[in-house]
Amino acid sequence: MDTDVLVVGAGPAGLMTANELQVAGVSVVLADKLPRRSELSRAGGVQSRTLEAFDQRGLLEPLLASGDFPIGSGHFAGVPLELANIRPREWRYLPQVDLEAFFEDHLAAQGIHARRDHELVDLAQDVESVTATFANGTTIRSRYLVAADGAHSKVRHLLGAEFPGRLGTATVIAADVSLGGIERELSHTWSEDGTWIALFPLGTDAAGQPITRLVLGGPGRSVPRDVPITEDEIREGLRIVFDDRVELLELRYSRRITNAARQAAQYRHGRVFLAGDAAHVHLPLGAQGMNTGIGDAFNLGWKLGAAVHGWAPADLLDSYHAERHPVGAGVLRNVQAQSLYMDWQGTRDPDVLAGQAIFRELAQLPAVQRHLADLMSGMVIRYPIPGDGLVGLPAPDLPVGSSRLHAMLRPGRAILLDPDDQYAKLGDLWSATVSRVTAGRPMLVRPDGYVCWAGSPDELEPALTRWFGEPR
Ligand SMILES: Cc1cc2nc3c(=O)[nH]c(=O)nc-3n(C[C@H](O)[C@H](O)[C@H](O)COP(=O)(O)OP(=O)(O)OC[C@H]3O[C@@H](n4cnc5c(N)ncnc54)[C@H](O)[C@@H]3O)c2cc1C
Repeated sequence: MDTDVLVVGAGPAGLMTANELQVAGVSVVLADKLPRRSELSRAGGVQSRTLEAFDQRGLLEPLLASGDFPIGSGHFAGVPLELANIRPREWRYLPQVDLEAFFEDHLAAQGIHARRDHELVDLAQDVESVTATFANGTTIRSRYLVAADGAHSKVRHLLGAEFPGRLGTATVIAADVSLGGIERELSHTWSEDGTWIALFPLGTDAAGQPITRLVLGGPGRSVPRDVPITEDEIREGLRIVFDDRVELLELRYSRRITNAARQAAQYRHGRVFLAGDAAHVHLPLGAQGMNTGIGDAFNLGWKLGAAVHGWAPADLLDSYHAERHPVGAGVLRNVQAQSLYMDWQGTRDPDVLAGQAIFRELAQLPAVQRHLADLMSGMVIRYPIPGDGLVGLPAPDLPVGSSRLHAMLRPGRAILLDPDDQYAKLGDLWSATVSRVTAGRPMLVRPDGYVCWAGSPDELEPALTRWFGEPR
């Protein structure tokens, strides 16, 4: 074997998977076809749950210290969400390019240097390994391969993996621009004719000039992806929506994005796992694609680590699909609902507009605001783990002795909170993989921060065995 795990693609999903694998103590090679890191800004919103996951690896503080990333509250279908409802912590406008730079540097400091100019062109797997072939003639043999190679995943194609869903039927423009005349970003604004513009902050350039993500859609604006975008096209949209109040000063980068909505039918193909956009593609509405890919990485990393170290229970690797496929499906569902409620295509269809009006009324109700805020924060993800209460949910950041639970997860080990030493004899049988702590309230937390047992004594042993195998 050249390495335990080969991660193909050094985007957010690949970088986070590589990080989780190094935390788990297995060898990893990270390969990407690009000669250097992508400069494309793309994602700009990082959800509460993702920030929480970074905190559980001790990386949140240094990440936030690496730039000036405004606090955000996001939107659902263009309806702004109230910041007070975003919990357990606010989310941030944090450009993908900055996030990737931070994690690539962090990995390099751990000795994992992304291998650039490595375009995977072929792969083969047998009962014990996967062999990947790259365009530069290199081959890499690994125990497992994680395909984090994006929406047009070569690995997915080579596997012949089913990728059902809808192909893109319409486009809008997404552009990074400098604007004059706006005091602050406005989320979504509609004109009478159905043209809409969304504006989000993307920080400032080296000269201190604010950069804004502009998304422009509406009737007659769905143009094939390969038609070049002109400044006049954007100026005309700004004029329709804002009259002459907002001026385009500079167009830095633009692309047309489609409303394709597809998801791999299976995330696991033998020793190969699909993660991130390789597994699910959808419109970037409400900042979810990158966040979902990072969630995939956190779920998969420790499980592959367990398999490499030899303590993974028989179906632990299958639980990656069982837990993450429903999450991806839920994201596709809410994105498609958002697309409808905001009339993303600018149809002005009276039925759509009636639905939109009712939705906007409902979205002002405090309970609906709270629900949508939880949805957009990534906090309602509940994995199908038997049990009540917190089981299946992200563990809250409880005070534990003089520390807090999330800080205790940094080494990437599971934690059994056992305040009265009631479970000392049982818990210590798993001391090779689970750290028992005499504090907090009774709870078993997996290395990815999800609760897999809480409270019922007779269910602890099955939970330990289910997630961490036989005692060693
Ligand atoms: C305009 C726009 C705005 C967005 N806004 C948000 C947002 O606010 N929040 C959010 O969460 N998401 C957002 N997204 C979505 C987000 O950008 C993607 O979901 C995210 O980039 C997916 O990460 P990934 O690591 O799965 O794939 P990618 O970022 O696509 O990375 C894939 C990597 O694989 C490499 N690769 C590809 N093929 C090969 C090969 N054959 N061999 C080797 N390497 C290969 C590529 O070079 C690339 O580096 C937005 C997207 C767009 C377009």
